[in-house]
Amino acid sequence: MINIYSITAAIKILGRKDILKLEVWARVIFVKFANGQGRFVSKNLFWIEFHRSRKERAKDLTVGYYDRDLYQVSSQSQIDPYFVSLGDDIQCECADFANQVKAKFRYPICKHAWALLNHLNFNSLSAYIQSNQGKAA
Ligand SMILES: [Zn+2]
Repeated sequence: MINIYSITAAIKILGRKDILKLEVWARVIFVKFANGQGRFVSKNLFWIEFHRSRKERAKDLTVGYYDRDLYQVSSQSQIDPYFVSLGDDIQCECADFANQVKAKFRYPICKHAWALLNHLNFNSLSAYIQSNQGKAA
């Protein structure tokens, strides 16, 4: 399961570690601190953090060309690299990517996919999507 609204993300967003728990409200997240106080944080900030953390971890990965639309991206958790394919959309065989697909994300993207996009000089997912739509037209 993917948890966008995690305490780990809240620590990064707010820059403080004394977070007790999070409450997911309809439009915002209520963050409760150890001292009993709390504050609201926009859900959007959690999405930004979700992508930022993956982009950050992508920097340590190496990318190699394999065949056709297939690339190999090194893994930090296993010896074998992951295959990442670049067709109409990006696909990776890692668990993070599979979980995002399962959660029905419109544009699933993991750190391996970010590493490949960086390798190909796309600095954002929308830049890749746009260039792909240009090809199809
Ligand atoms: Zn992946």
